[in-house]
Amino acid sequence: MTDTPGSARRANEALAERLGVRALSLRVEQTTALTPSCRRIRLSGEELSELDPLPGQDVMVSLDGEAERTRRRRYTIRHLDRGARLLELDIALHGDGPGMRWALGAHLGERVEAIGPRGKITLDPESRWHLFVGDDSFAPAALAMAEAVARDQTVIVVLEIDAAGHEQPHEITAQLLGAHWVPRDGTAPGDPEALWAALATVELPAGPGHAYVGGEHAVVARLREALLERGMEPDAVSSKSYWRLGRQNAANGEPDRG
Ligand SMILES: Cc1cc2nc3c(=O)[nH]c(=O)nc-3n(C[C@H](O)[C@H](O)[C@H](O)COP(=O)(O)OP(=O)(O)OC[C@H]3O[C@@H](n4cnc5c(N)ncnc54)[C@H](O)[C@@H]3O)c2cc1C
Repeated sequence: MTDTPGSARRANEALAERLGVRALSLRVEQTTALTPSCRRIRLSGEELSELDPLPGQDVMVSLDGEAERTRRRRYTIRHLDRGARLLELDIALHGDGPGMRWALGAHLGERVEAIGPRGKITLDPESRWHLFVGDDSFAPAALAMAEAVARDQTVIVVLEIDAAGHEQPHEITAQLLGAHWVPRDGTAPGDPEALWAALATVELPAGPGHAYVGGEHAVVARLREALLERGMEPDAVSSKSYWRLGRQNAANGEPDRG
């Protein structure tokens, strides 16, 4: 990140107006190792007092200084404290792109320009059970949504992590039918097999339910297919690619579709 973010701020104000969201001028307050493979970045900013995201929505962070054109990366809002004007992002430490370099180098007082809230996937109000499945880049969205599920509803979580011991803390108050943390144990990220096998062991509850799938592009496609094969209706499975194996995300933060 640059320490003179005036141009990023102006570009973000124009983009935010076009998208109908807010431009956010933020400051790094704290960075912590949530697990050995996940860095939590706490940001402050005046505009956060008026941010009203739905569970699972994200902010788009500008990472200028990396290229002539502003490069953006999207990170899910893990926690927001409007009163204290603080938000937290949890970033999976993998790959070698600008997002990961920013997460590793973020330091106290650093200025961060962002826009938000972004994202179309949030909890389905018609469902009684909610299944969250994906890799560690999806963990913040999965846990933020799962924590927002009402107490009398059911949650199942299937999340891939680097290794045992990297499980993430959560405050799910709904009935937790299963929290499956699936260790890669040396297998490279982006391989669908372990998640696919873990998902196959999960019994889908009766009644109206919804699955939310996120992570690597091909992994997401494979998991979605598995859920449809098990009889879920296409509109009961919300899936989103977050990154693509061997390719940089585009400047707008979306996985390369090429
Ligand atoms: C809507 C949305 C919400 C997201 N929320 C989060 C979030 O809350 N937390 C989070 O960590 N990420 C999240 N992501 C993913 C995030 O935006 C970046 O894709 C990720 O941080 C990698 O960016 P990068 O610039 O480091 O890598 P890039 O420049 O995109 O890629 C560089 C290389 O790293 C590899 N790579 C990228 N990501 C991974 C990975 N997870 N594991 C292994 N290799 C990888 C790529 O295949 C490529 O070879 C989200 C993405 C979207 C679209």
